[in-house]
Amino acid sequence: MDVTAVSLADRRPTRRINVGSVPVGGGAPISVQSMTTTKTADVEGTLQQIYALAAAGADIVRCTCNEQAAAEGLAQIVPRSPVPVVADIHFHVEMALAALEAGVHGLRLNPGNLRKPEEIKLVAREAKDRGVPIRIGVNAGSLHPELYERFGGATPEALVESARMELALFDEVDFHDVKISVKASSVPTMIAAYRLASETFDHPLHLGVTEAGPLPGGLIKGTAGIATLLAEGIGDTLRYSLTADPVEEARAGRQLLEALGLRERRGLDLIACPSCGRAEIDVITVARDAQEALDALEVPIQVAVMGCVVNGPGEARHADLGIAAGRRRGHLFIRGQIVRVVPEDEMVAALVEEARRIAEEGIEARLAARDAAAEDVAAADRAALLENRGLDANRSGERIERIRRRAGDGGAE
Ligand code: SF4
Repeated sequence: MDVTAVSLADRRPTRRINVGSVPVGGGAPISVQSMTTTKTADVEGTLQQIYALAAAGADIVRCTCNEQAAAEGLAQIVPRSPVPVVADIHFHVEMALAALEAGVHGLRLNPGNLRKPEEIKLVAREAKDRGVPIRIGVNAGSLHPELYERFGGATPEALVESARMELALFDEVDFHDVKISVKASSVPTMIAAYRLASETFDHPLHLGVTEAGPLPGGLIKGTAGIATLLAEGIGDTLRYSLTADPVEEARAGRQLLEALGLRERRGLDLIACPSCGRAEIDVITVARDAQEALDALEVPIQVAVMGCVVNGPGEARHADLGIAAGRRRGHLFIRGQIVRVVPEDEMVAALVEEARRIAEEGIEARLAARDAAAEDVAAADRAALLENRGLDANRSGERIERIRRRAGDGGAE
């Protein structure tokens, strides 16, 4: 099967909102979000982090607005930010109003701790006047206590009911510029909550597994929840919540969307074989060196590092570019065709150089410029490796032969 023919692009229809210049929902590209960890009052430090997040793949960045100094910081951050800025609001309605004054592109309100209907409606009216969207950010950990009691816990139904109640207040003031999240730290609860939210609302959904924790577990939990829903067509924007540098969140979000084919690849996609007994190099080290060298180039191609020339070029023939090791040589291949053979210690440098030239000249031109003798050299190396080790790398056939001989000899070898 041609794996590239499979698409997850079919989305459940939602209405569209705009967070500053970034459209969310209604068929817009799924956007990546992250949140700064600096004090928002620290304008330069926060902007530095926002730039790093944007470079790593964040389309929208959220900053806490928890005090007057944070709101004042936002007034200076928003006009200088490369991406739209959303203010995160808990408990204090006056902080929501101050953030709007600061010119933020969106608000996130937590209905679990901002509970007074008149205050919520006041914020919605002010947001409406300014054309600023609001995320109803329900969180299982801070669910409204009444709902917790009524539903017997932070169940998927309770999370969705919390969002529905907030929406009803927004409806009263004719405010509809809304996206919704129903996050939980339990992946099954989060998945069920978003499925229910998707059936209940036509507003765009912001996906996330909250408090997922440090790497690598946090990454796995976030991916399990977010990817499951995206594959079902649910979700319009997302955030990984990792106990890590937020750059990791932005990077993870972007890479997940690229891996699912939901956003175009904008940087390197390095694939590498898992290595096995046939490997002719230390695949882990070579892959890491290649990743570091190629990351700096920011070339939007798929590059393969394969441990042996016996299987490597064939197994990675879908890659734009790759290298496979064998007999102390690196076999450079483009779309499965060997184009050059280099000494093993020049493998990574040759790979980087070829990636750069592909970016400049294109794949067809680099294929046309291939070394005519390279394929023969690779074939000879492949044959020699097969001759040396046989087709059976694990020597299973040899072992079976010995077992049979032992059985035939009545137990004595
Ligand atoms: S490419 Fe070669 S070394 Fe890597 S997993 Fe496949 S057979 Fe093993």
